Amino acid sequence: MLDILIIGGGLAGLINAIHLSKAGLQVKVIEKNAYPKHKVCGEYISNEVLPYLNYLGIDPFAEGAVAIDQFSLSTVNGKEINTHLPLGGFGISRYTLDHILYRKALEEGCTIEQEIVTNIDFSNDFFTTTTRNGAQYFSKFVIGAFGKRSNIDVHYQRAFIQQKAPFLGVKGHYLGDFPDNLVALHNFKGGYCGVSKVENNRINICYLTDYKAFKKYRNIKIFQEEVLFKNPHLKALFAQVQPLFEAPLTISQVSFSPKKTIKNHILMSGDAAGMIHPLCGNGMGMAIHSALLLSQALIRFFEGNSADRLNLESVYTKQWETTFRKRLIAGRIFNTTFKSDRIFELGLSGLLLFPKLLPFFIEQTHGKTLSVGN
Ligand SMILES: Cc1cc2nc3c(=O)[nH]c(=O)nc-3n(C[C@H](O)[C@H](O)[C@H](O)COP(=O)(O)OP(=O)(O)OC[C@H]3O[C@@H](n4cnc5c(N)ncnc54)[C@H](O)[C@@H]3O)c2cc1C
Repeated sequence: MLDILIIGGGLAGLINAIHLSKAGLQVKVIEKNAYPKHKVCGEYISNEVLPYLNYLGIDPFAEGAVAIDQFSLSTVNGKEINTHLPLGGFGISRYTLDHILYRKALEEGCTIEQEIVTNIDFSNDFFTTTTRNGAQYFSKFVIGAFGKRSNIDVHYQRAFIQQKAPFLGVKGHYLGDFPDNLVALHNFKGGYCGVSKVENNRINICYLTDYKAFKKYRNIKIFQEEVLFKNPHLKALFAQVQPLFEAPLTISQVSFSPKKTIKNHILMSGDAAGMIHPLCGNGMGMAIHSALLLSQALIRFFEGNSADRLNLESVYTKQWETTFRKRLIAGRIFNTTFKSDRIFELGLSGLLLFPKLLPFFIEQTHGKTLSVGN
């Protein structure tokens, strides 16, 4: 019997795997895709998680990550404001980052299977997890780290699945001119586009749009020309970059509805527990931080310092809510502001008069620097 089975080997699942294996627990990850793999993501990570990554033995800069400390924000019409990022961050592709974490998890003694989980049954105080090819795994705990939207969410009819998920994400890597230390967020009608550098001098351009805005065109090239290029910064950027992917990657049905941290005793980690709007540039930070909270709670349990399963579940849920509630609310408010061109234009005019307010707003969607002791 395994101590912990983790479903999903993305950021949260692999961080959990490394931390728990390091603590001497018997851990297995089931991930449906092979490594390495590109993912739709802005690929800017807040420095708040850097000390924790270093504690786990991961140094993104040794793999070519790029330090970022400047932020630029523009409206649909191209009005722009620039500021220093309060905490800063770094750019690294998910292709590279997830692969480093995968290798580290194996090094720590964790096993990883490439399969799709289709069913999780809990009875007699243990889990039986079944995969599409019929394999079964038995474990004391299951961590659900299956991301934004999975077949398992549908299987369990989790509440957010019933609600509308009207966002489409598009991402590509490019070569061209763009400052190494800058992350830019350019607004366009129906969405926003993040631009920043990752390793090997690549520029990541990743945007999220309301599906309604996209539906009229149903073609990425035309949509970009007709909608994104209304913002002069995006028009100038796309005019000088060369794509490195044959076609951009896309994901649809992205939802920001609140989720629950526990379902049928499955402990949710990362986006499966809750997701902040990507415009805050902190989803990966949150996924990594939630994996830390959950790993610590599980280690306390196995050391005999947690009364029972229900106590562990309630402590983790409380910690998750206390840690992330404020930034999730701030993210929702910013997203609403971005949705209305007029309000956003007015807000940006205000920020041009009081530029010190922008770092203050950014801080509301981020946490303090993580260390394993806190
Ligand atoms: C458009 C967009 C831009 C973003 N930009 C940024 C940014 O710049 N900065 C930032 O910090 N955050 C950003 N985010 C958020 C960030 O991508 C996520 O918060 C982060 O990927 C969460 O990690 P995770 O491990 O929870 O999920 P994932 O990384 O999605 O991992 C989930 C894994 O579970 C696997 N899986 C699912 N179902 C099964 C199953 N049944 N069996 C086996 N495996 C399964 C999947 O294959 C996947 O590998 C962005 C998000 C979007 C949508």
